Amino acid sequence: MPIFEFQCEECGEVFEELVLGDKIKDVKCKKCGSSKVTKLISQVAFRSEGKFVSTSGGGCSVCSGGSCSVCS
Ligand SMILES: [Zn+2]
Repeated sequence: MPIFEFQCEECGEVFEELVLGDKIKDVKCKKCGSSKVTKLISQVAFRSEGKFVSTSGGGCSVCSGGSCSVCS
């Protein structure tokens, strides 16, 4: 089911809404009724971003170049 998470730009309320088709334009804050809402990336996606792995291939958090006692 297409359930998305939204945050209201007016009051900061975060809520989930079932969105079918193009009804995303009709989503309103459940707290204050504002239509200024931002669709959030799911929390699952946020968590996977938290697993931060070195981008330099072989580097570590200490030297980032693969040449210290931690990586060798
Ligand atoms: Zn609101």
